[in-house]
Amino acid sequence: MSYKEFHQSSIENPEKFWDEQAKLIHWEKPYTEVLDYSNPPFAKWFKGGLTNLCYNAIDRHLATRGDQIALIVVSTETDQEKTYTYKELYTEVNRMAAILKANGVNKGDRVLVYMPMIAEAAFAMLACARLGAIHSVVFGGFASHSLATRIDDAEPVVIITAEAGMRAGKTVPYKPLLDEAIELAKYKPKKVLIVNRGLLAFTTVTGRDLDYATEHQKHLDDKVPVEWVDATHPSYILYTSGTTGKPKGIQRDTGGHAVALAASMKYIFCGQPGETMFTASDVGWAVGHSYTIYGPLINGMSSIMYEGTPLRPDPGIWWQLVEKYKVTVMFTAPTAIRVLKKQDPAYLSKYDLSSLRLLFLAGEPLDEPTATWIHEGIKKPVVDNYWQTETGWPMMAIQRGVEVMPHKFGSPGVPVFGYNLKLLDESTGEELGPDKKGVVVIEGPLPPGCMQTVWGDDQRFVSTYWETVPGKMTYSTFDWGIKDKDGYFFILGRTDDVINVAGHRLGTREIEECLSSHTNVAEVAVVGIEDQLKGQVPIGFVVTKDGSNAPEIESELMKIVDAKLGALARPAKIYLVNLLPKTRSGKIVRRALQAISEGRELGDISTIEDKTVLDQIQEAINQRR
Ligand code: AMP
Repeated sequence: MSYKEFHQSSIENPEKFWDEQAKLIHWEKPYTEVLDYSNPPFAKWFKGGLTNLCYNAIDRHLATRGDQIALIVVSTETDQEKTYTYKELYTEVNRMAAILKANGVNKGDRVLVYMPMIAEAAFAMLACARLGAIHSVVFGGFASHSLATRIDDAEPVVIITAEAGMRAGKTVPYKPLLDEAIELAKYKPKKVLIVNRGLLAFTTVTGRDLDYATEHQKHLDDKVPVEWVDATHPSYILYTSGTTGKPKGIQRDTGGHAVALAASMKYIFCGQPGETMFTASDVGWAVGHSYTIYGPLINGMSSIMYEGTPLRPDPGIWWQLVEKYKVTVMFTAPTAIRVLKKQDPAYLSKYDLSSLRLLFLAGEPLDEPTATWIHEGIKKPVVDNYWQTETGWPMMAIQRGVEVMPHKFGSPGVPVFGYNLKLLDESTGEELGPDKKGVVVIEGPLPPGCMQTVWGDDQRFVSTYWETVPGKMTYSTFDWGIKDKDGYFFILGRTDDVINVAGHRLGTREIEECLSSHTNVAEVAVVGIEDQLKGQVPIGFVVTKDGSNAPEIESELMKIVDAKLGALARPAKIYLVNLLPKTRSGKIVRRALQAISEGRELGDISTIEDKTVLDQIQEAINQRR
């Protein structure tokens, strides 16, 4: 079947299409309905069916591939490398599930996972799935304030952490930040389970904190039966930034999620059972959930979990792993390739990459020089793919498992099966044809695997995503796009205040709220500007209450961001200015701040009331150049 026919069949008859795909996973009890869309935009996939993610990722493979490696855990920071067969993974996940159960975790309870890239993070996620508990993994780069808002929203019974991670040779504290976050949060978890890696001394809270090694010893031989859950039972919550300061808990189901990942492994990633996949992401991100943990395991592959940078011990490390473990499918973000691009290209030809079939890149726009450089260096197809935390798997890609279509530079390809993607005029809601810039939307129902709702807030799901286009209930991606006459999409940036720093999504409003907490800050605006390496970086414009522009204020502000949100969100620069450009009604014109900072034409500034403010801002920027 051609790509066109395949895609069309998924849109014209989704029930038939997904009924077929659902055969890729195990159903303990078959579903009675493929899709219930009686209450749009809430789609219920595989209603009435019972299944379990952990069973599909582990137990199902025990008979056929029990002795095959399931997980390869590599830390170039602690110089450790360990493999787990499917049997060994089964044993460890059962132990972790037993620990959680003994500490009061039941079906539907939340477990927050705040961990570096260590094997126990995978055990934790899979153990939750085994119990029907809902995990919420929080990226280790987030600091105490961000963590506290997530604790309050998810209300986890147990939090699992490690005392520290490591990055670029430096110890990254986890447990101390978690303690601070629990202090800040209104909700208090009953237990905190700590994997002590021996990297950092830490204090414990009696009665609350548990040592993983001690608990592990108590449950060495425990087996925890799989909890069969409804296909629509939530499997996890993953928080992501939006236009308000309060992060959204993206809630994903179980059955649709497993089917979508299995189908994506087959038709997009083209990984075969028994092969090795290397997704260099973090379990704190959607890519880590889908393609470091669940996708490859559901597909019976061996998956590499990697702690470290692509540069240590030398910039050949990732390719060395490809050679050693005969990786066939690799996945990372363009930023990582831009980092490698600054190094000696000889590293790309030093190792035997003959096993590698495809390199996937996602999370941010893939620029042509980067794509060409890596493609020529490793001589493998580079597959740009576009998606969001909300969708959990690609929306746009060349689907080589369906048809090997040509790649076009700058384009993440064509709509993926199941996604009815359109470009709409922002103000009229009218559908646009080729070469017209519009908002990328998904016509409902969202396919399996996409978010079900915002955790605990159905109304927010509807109003945030489905009510932005006039006269139509349609899911907005908040991305601008354009489509060529062959149906290839090009992504042209966000329609909202979300920025993308090295593939990580950040809400500028969150950073603004954080800066505003400084006692001397009267007004603040944060915008994302272009950066050669990271794609975008945030920069801040701050008006102080007392009019001071003392340089120490800038370092104080940076410290606040580090402590509250994490270094990831730290602005590249903060300019102390007297006024911000505003409309007559008092709205800050961030677009103008962004244009000035990037040295671009200002465009339409007719709405700015006092245009002399722009000159002052330009002056502040010039002074710092
Ligand atoms: P996140 O949910 O953090 O993965 O961020 C999703 C956002 O990243 C999307 O809405 C896009 O703005 C951007 N993005 C992801 N993948 C791509 C891609 N392949 N090309 C361009 N932008 C992308």
